[in-house]
Amino acid sequence: KTGKNNHCWFDPAMEKDLRERHELETALRAAIPAGEFVPYYQQQIDIETGRITGFEMLARWNSPHYGHIGPEQFIAIAEEIGVIDDLSEGLIRQALRDAREWDPSITLAINVSPVQLRDPWFAQKLIKLLVEANFPASRLEVEITETCLHDNIQQVRTLIASLKNQGMTVSLDDFGSGYSSLAQLQSLPFDRLKIDRSFVSPMSGCTDSATIVRVISSLGEGLGLPITAEGVESAEIARQLRDLGNMHAQGYLYGRPESGSETLARLADMGLT
Ligand code: C2E
Ligand code: CA
Ligand code: CA
Ligand code: CA
Repeated sequence: KTGKNNHCWFDPAMEKDLRERHELETALRAAIPAGEFVPYYQQQIDIETGRITGFEMLARWNSPHYGHIGPEQFIAIAEEIGVIDDLSEGLIRQALRDAREWDPSITLAINVSPVQLRDPWFAQKLIKLLVEANFPASRLEVEITETCLHDNIQQVRTLIASLKNQGMTVSLDDFGSGYSSLAQLQSLPFDRLKIDRSFVSPMSGCTDSATIVRVISSLGEGLGLPITAEGVESAEIARQLRDLGNMHAQGYLYGRPESGSETLARLADMGLT
């Protein structure tokens, strides 16, 4: 690959990396039928009232071999080796079962990867899961990241339309962190914007971040798009966001992602089951 007449010794460290990667892939494939992937839930609250409005499902891998692994380490691999569909189907099925026990005012948000968005049957598959679980589409929110939108905007537009036709809500995740966000806002019918935590988390000490959050907030207001701020880590950030008006918030200040049973216990304590 380095060109003609170039020799490159195969480095033993490379071999080790390759072997480890291969082992990880094999473990990941086996982990799906073994039920090692579980949904965790992080609460989303109305910053004005402090009420829980919903939970975002975040995937976790409880691996007997690797321990507790976060999605940043396995979603991309699952996409590459073509198992993301199976992986997320199991997670969504479990999440719908869990969320059915929550108060009906509480929504469930799920993340969708770019690979899934390219699947022309994605909307149908999701609807099938909703019907199976007898879960109302109006309680399901689908989060799409900006990085999904680069190449296939036409297809994404069709997909968003079918999800919305079925009664689901669609939000633009990680807003501000990707490319040409404003063009996409104009051309795609999102129901909500989630401000990326890279702007929210530093906003109490950084006036530039605070300015960006303020501008996104008035953008949302002007476009009639409700906003969720992610990465709310301190009471000071929450106070600043409250001053910006009507907003939802999510972050370690309110709660870390928790297992299904922890989530249910929390809601039961609050009389929200
Ligand atoms: P995301 O959708 O932006 O999810 C929010 C991430 O921020 C989560 O990381 C969450 O634990 C973390 N977070 C929440 N509050 C705070 C805070 O106050 N401070 C900080 N520093 N972080 C906070 P997590 O669970 O590691 O997930 C990472 C990403 O993996 C998610 O980013 C999402 O893009 C992806 N992901 C998670 N679950 C799934 C899934 O089931 N399917 C797909 N396709 N992607 C998933
Ligand atoms: Ca998300
Ligand atoms: Ca996000
Ligand atoms: Ca993110």
